[in-house]
Amino acid sequence: MAGAATPDARRARRMASAWAWVALAALAAACALPAQDFPVDPAQPVAPAIVPPPAPKAASKPRPPPAPIRRLTIEPTAEAIAAGPPEPVEEVGPPEPDLIDVEALTGADLPPVATPFTLFEKAVAPGEKRELRWTAGESFAGSNISTPVLVAHGVQPGPVLCMTAAVHGDELNGIEVVRRVLNDIDPQQLTGTVIGMPIVNLMGFSRSSRYLPDRRDLNRYFPGTMYGSAASRIAYRLFKQVIVNCDALVDFHTGSFDRANLPQVRGDLTIPSVLEFTRGFGATPVLHSPGSRGMLRLAATDHGIPAVTFEVGAPLRLEPEQIEFAVQAIVTLSHKMGMTRSFRMWAEPQATFYESKWVRVDSGGMLFSSVALGDRIREGQHLGKVVDPIRNEEQPILSPFRGRVIGIALNQVVLPGFAAYHVGIETSEAQAAEEAAQAPAEPDAIERMEGDQINEVLGDPRQGGADGSGGDGAEPPRDNSD
Ligand SMILES: [Zn+2]
Repeated sequence: MAGAATPDARRARRMASAWAWVALAALAAACALPAQDFPVDPAQPVAPAIVPPPAPKAASKPRPPPAPIRRLTIEPTAEAIAAGPPEPVEEVGPPEPDLIDVEALTGADLPPVATPFTLFEKAVAPGEKRELRWTAGESFAGSNISTPVLVAHGVQPGPVLCMTAAVHGDELNGIEVVRRVLNDIDPQQLTGTVIGMPIVNLMGFSRSSRYLPDRRDLNRYFPGTMYGSAASRIAYRLFKQVIVNCDALVDFHTGSFDRANLPQVRGDLTIPSVLEFTRGFGATPVLHSPGSRGMLRLAATDHGIPAVTFEVGAPLRLEPEQIEFAVQAIVTLSHKMGMTRSFRMWAEPQATFYESKWVRVDSGGMLFSSVALGDRIREGQHLGKVVDPIRNEEQPILSPFRGRVIGIALNQVVLPGFAAYHVGIETSEAQAAEEAAQAPAEPDAIERMEGDQINEVLGDPRQGGADGSGGDGAEPPRDNSD
């Protein structure tokens, strides 16, 4: 009879109700966690910004048009790597001498006062911040697709620092980094100019896709051509209308195909201006990577503009810790370039240079990792396991070498040979530069290629897989993402 339950039944109902609440609370706690599978523990700044007295005015010659090729003439110094942690924060005063040779970056003396900065035939006055629009081209429907270009033009003449993000439309962290950096800049306190393009590949972004609508990878078509494929034309417009105005470029990416990257700067360290540029990113690890033909950073360096890729986390996710790390790295960079006076302290030494190797799994199944991004690992260490749910077997994954996890595959179903862990092997800056110089100029092995390059080799030129995800992603490459 309803309402006349026995004491036992009531107790059972109370228990069930209590367990439901416990489950609900657990679910709520899980949802509150940041959306990342592998939390990282990157070095965080340990002290707030300090503002020393203003710097003296810049030099006073008119600025000639930029030379086609600008290379740094200074030699790499051992001090940069040996410098160790910065000075204690209590010592408020003029900043440390800039590590970056900005004059070499800009390749010219600067005018005595800032003049309006013109982009897309729109002038941005000194001390002004404006949102302009860049049109990539026409959509299928014939309407123009335009994406924001944020310009902060300082009151003092100086270098033009450019940031681009979402060249791969599913790589979200960089979008927020660029947005946040530009929002935080006070053009009245700025020397030089900062240009930020949060979403280069707006068509890919709106579809949560790495690729353009025709499944081409925009980052294989730079500097582009006027009458080439759609990707080539978009690359051409971006390069001619934005990139050539830059004195230095940071292109934000993430890992590709369900892989996450520790925040890291990648560049061709055989180019002195790039090597110099990589010194500006605080404690961000630096990885030598010659890059692949058609990459934005490669086209930029070919044009004499020092450029790097900044890898931040995993695609299709927004990872607050990683975003904050990258924002602080850019704050440090702009200070090192003499553009801003506030700067951040880092708990770790200035920069660590890496060679890198991939650890592949030898059996197929479901991957479960027991290490996380940023972990330092030793030879023979247990990195994770692959579980075969059909035969009910587990295979451990042991590290063949010692190093640091700078890239990791998120837990997923894998095939034998799947590259699961990207391990950075620490080296000195001098050694990294020397080895970079000795490395073959052309990628000579699958190891160096990216997922979609593998497809090119296999006869699927510059296109993603049938599902639009872009190949199987099982062959990332030392340089798996930018
Ligand atoms: Zn990318």
